[in-house]
Amino acid sequence: MIDIRGVDKWYGSHQVLRGVDLQVRQGETVCVIGPSGSGKSTLLRTINHLEDINAGSIEVGGELVGYREHRGRLHELRESEACRQRLGIGMVFQQFNLFPHMTVLDNVAFAPIKVKKQDARAAREYGRELLARVGLADKASAYPSKLSGGQQQRVAIARAMAMRPQVMLFDEPTSALDPELVGEVLAVIKDLATTGGITVVVVTHEMGFAREVSDRVIFMDDGRIVEQGTPEDVLVTPRHERTQAFLAAVL
Ligand code: ADP
Ligand code: MG
Repeated sequence: MIDIRGVDKWYGSHQVLRGVDLQVRQGETVCVIGPSGSGKSTLLRTINHLEDINAGSIEVGGELVGYREHRGRLHELRESEACRQRLGIGMVFQQFNLFPHMTVLDNVAFAPIKVKKQDARAAREYGRELLARVGLADKASAYPSKLSGGQQQRVAIARAMAMRPQVMLFDEPTSALDPELVGEVLAVIKDLATTGGITVVVVTHEMGFAREVSDRVIFMDDGRIVEQGTPEDVLVTPRHERTQAFLAAVL
């Protein structure tokens, strides 16, 4: 579902991704861990075409990210939103970024109606289903400012799911939350990751979560994938010195 080959990314003279190779199967759940500044967010953002890359290639669902085929030829796709649309990628960030002037249900149904031109009634009905799935059926008419951070992040997840993505990317989805609200958000992500064929990539510092839900854990350092394997391999018996040092510092 995701096929990343030899990806380099530079910001000016600073190289932040160094020959990254990563393949993620459909339905797989991958957690990405590693120190701050190691390139985790940049990697997620390139998958979603929020950033261009300087070398290598990224395919999602068999299509080159950032390109569109027209009459047998590839044309560079400048509009990121169009690219994400086509590829069916949803993304959830540390900050929830809900539309403050819209109700919870309108936040969830907005993009399917405006961007996908879905029938408004059907979009709102599906929106209610998703709100029920994230445990917020009773908040459909509330405004975001009335919700806790954990509830807002669950709305953000429902909003991303409303576009029926094949791939969901989460960038430290619980890092902005008070500790007592982390569990409810992780439970929702776990539910998505373990049901249906959706492919999930989560950048997280929650090692217990990574151990519990991942099919595979990726450890990044200094723009490289240093080590990857099952949660046991990477989190319990890491082979690389850098992984060991990182885990010793966070656990
Ligand atoms: P992580 O998510 O692992 O903390 P990032 O991918 O955010 O790491 O950042 C990797 C490196 O790229 C860091 O050194 C960071 O300062 C740098 N960086 C990230 N975004 C930008 C940007 N827009 N412009 C310049 N440098 C950036
Ligand atoms: Mg980051």
